[in-house]
Amino acid sequence: MKSILYDVLNNLTLLMSGFYLLGKLSPHPITVDSKRSVRILYGLSLSILSLLLMQLTIEPVSGVLVDLRHIPVIVAAYFAGPLPTCIVTAVIIVYRFSVNTNAAAFAACLFILLVASGTSLIVRWLPLYSRKTFTVVTVYATVLHGLVLTFVLFDTGLILDILSVVLPASFASSWLALVIIRDIRLTKHAMQTLQQTARRDFLTGLHNFRAFTDHLEDLKQQTILHSREVALITVDIDHFKQINDTYGHEAGDEVLRQFAKRLQDGVTDSGYVSRNGGEEFSILVERLTVVKVLALAEQLREQIAAAPFVLSSGMLLHLTASFGVASFPETTGQIQHIVTDADAALYQSKQNGRNRVTLFSLQEEVASARHSD
Ligand code: GH3
Ligand code: MG
Ligand code: MG
Repeated sequence: MKSILYDVLNNLTLLMSGFYLLGKLSPHPITVDSKRSVRILYGLSLSILSLLLMQLTIEPVSGVLVDLRHIPVIVAAYFAGPLPTCIVTAVIIVYRFSVNTNAAAFAACLFILLVASGTSLIVRWLPLYSRKTFTVVTVYATVLHGLVLTFVLFDTGLILDILSVVLPASFASSWLALVIIRDIRLTKHAMQTLQQTARRDFLTGLHNFRAFTDHLEDLKQQTILHSREVALITVDIDHFKQINDTYGHEAGDEVLRQFAKRLQDGVTDSGYVSRNGGEEFSILVERLTVVKVLALAEQLREQIAAAPFVLSSGMLLHLTASFGVASFPETTGQIQHIVTDADAALYQSKQNGRNRVTLFSLQEEVASARHSD
């Protein structure tokens, strides 16, 4: 009895540590949508786990050996889709037939095929992470295991002794495997969501200032490695305070959301749009000449000024915004100065009457510095 307990515990330990290590394979949970190469690697890793389980047998009665090779098949079918499931199923079947070809081998292979196809069907109809689905899959695989063992070992006359060991072991290992993998996946998912929300502006959904700063740092590194053009467009809504004062803070928020959307739609994926605070936004653009960056800024300015913003109350608001542009290396020789230079250009737009785009120029900087002396 003691040695049977050791056998079962050894199997459970191998399964748990195997699934923990597999969880480390990829930073994202491996699903049917993961890259094909990742799914193949997952299938092969699960196959190795199955082959190890086939070596680590349990001996419920003297001379009868059973194992838990089907658990990785359940996991593949449950979480990762057809490709890893086919790989692990095929490896187990080929290995089993390479040992010998008898009725027991055929029964074992039929068992694996039924586990793979049944689990795939169950998870297609039931919610993935629910306790009900775990229970249905686990009960299905355990009953199937019991039926196959009864068919193969009925003649021994010890089938009840065998089932009294194998069924609890089969049930516990399947259930524990699913629970542990579910917990690892949900933790990863929660981490990803937290990381993403920490980098998004809550009001507009754009990148926030932290994400902007990190992205700019990356671009700075890239310009050191490969000499590459980087431009910054800073944007500030004109007289925004009046909107809050006249129509209320809620209306101001609505305008900010719509304004952000208009910027993002205008930029599409040619730039990295952020809300850097209040009614100030920025767009980081790579590999565009300063002429093209200016054209983009001008187009955005026109799109904002041309059509009114429609509030949920039906109110129409005409808005304008001022823009400042600095471009490395054309206007700004040192990328470290790109933010201050774009801000200086934006300041010039405000000074010159708003609703305009200004390109940073060193001469103007010197002139305005002299003026303020
Ligand atoms: P200028 O043309 O010179 O840029 O004038 P302005 O009124 O746009 O600029 P100012 O800096 O005087 O005012 C910005 C206002 O933006 C003040 C502040 O109450 C408002 N604001 C900042 N953050 C938010 C926000 O999240 N929601 C709303 N509704 N208003 C905000
Ligand atoms: Mg403003
Ligand atoms: Mg401002």
